[in-house]
Amino acid sequence: MSRIIAITNQKGGVGKTTTAVNLAAGLAQGGKRVLLVDLDPQGNATMGCGVDKHALSRSVYHLLLGHASFDDVCVATEHEFSVLPANRELGGAEVELIELEHRELRLREALAAARQHYDFILIDCPPALNLLTVNGLAAADGVIIPMQCEYYALEGLTDLVNTLRKVRQALNPKIEIDGLLRTLYDPRSTLAQQVVAQLSQHFGDKVFHTVIPRNIRLAEAPSFGRPIFSYDKSSRGALAYQELATELIQRIKR
Ligand code: ADP
Ligand code: MG
Repeated sequence: MSRIIAITNQKGGVGKTTTAVNLAAGLAQGGKRVLLVDLDPQGNATMGCGVDKHALSRSVYHLLLGHASFDDVCVATEHEFSVLPANRELGGAEVELIELEHRELRLREALAAARQHYDFILIDCPPALNLLTVNGLAAADGVIIPMQCEYYALEGLTDLVNTLRKVRQALNPKIEIDGLLRTLYDPRSTLAQQVVAQLSQHFGDKVFHTVIPRNIRLAEAPSFGRPIFSYDKSSRGALAYQELATELIQRIKR
């Protein structure tokens, strides 16, 4: 059975794209059939898995607007998973979608037939609670919320939980939180420890045991268009994302 997971947080810079690319690669390494969907006009996930966003003739934009089929847009990466790539053109979809029927459900409809070919479909959401993100949430069975454990993190989380509640009521009754992921983690920070304590209080075992440390190799890998496993497979970042892939698979089974 396939699972569609939106990787979301309206804050930028919390590690959504890093998680999307490296979790996709980690799951693929474990033999899972994986599709990565880049839903951010910045196209960072696209570049991060080695696909040139400037050279796309078709992208997620065309798929959402019904101008191209899934097969026209889907690209096989060199890293054992496929990607629906994006570039800045996708920014225009935000406006153009408003005119269309089922504007919140375009991605769900575009993935409906294809999902049977994958074990995991990961959606890298943009850093906003906009129509693109709503498309991601409407298409998803679950969400992973990467977060940096700093003071304002919990405040942002309240907005996100409210949005999820609305999506559940209006569009997608079965969407679940698959997990909260602590990223860019510095165990020496007392603030981080306090935030973690509060997180556990509110979300209990929704918080992944796996923690993603701050690791320079994770920041370097995208400029080579590579997931961490092909860039530096013995780095702390690689070990952490491998552990996350394993933990996620266990969690989905339960
Ligand atoms: P988002 O998609 O939420 O905006 P990114 O994944 O693009 O966040 O991460 C923001 C920046 O931080 C990027 O430059 C990325 O390379 C870097 N980064 C993300 N996670 C880590 C990490 N664990 N260690 C070091 N740098 C990281
Ligand atoms: Mg991003």
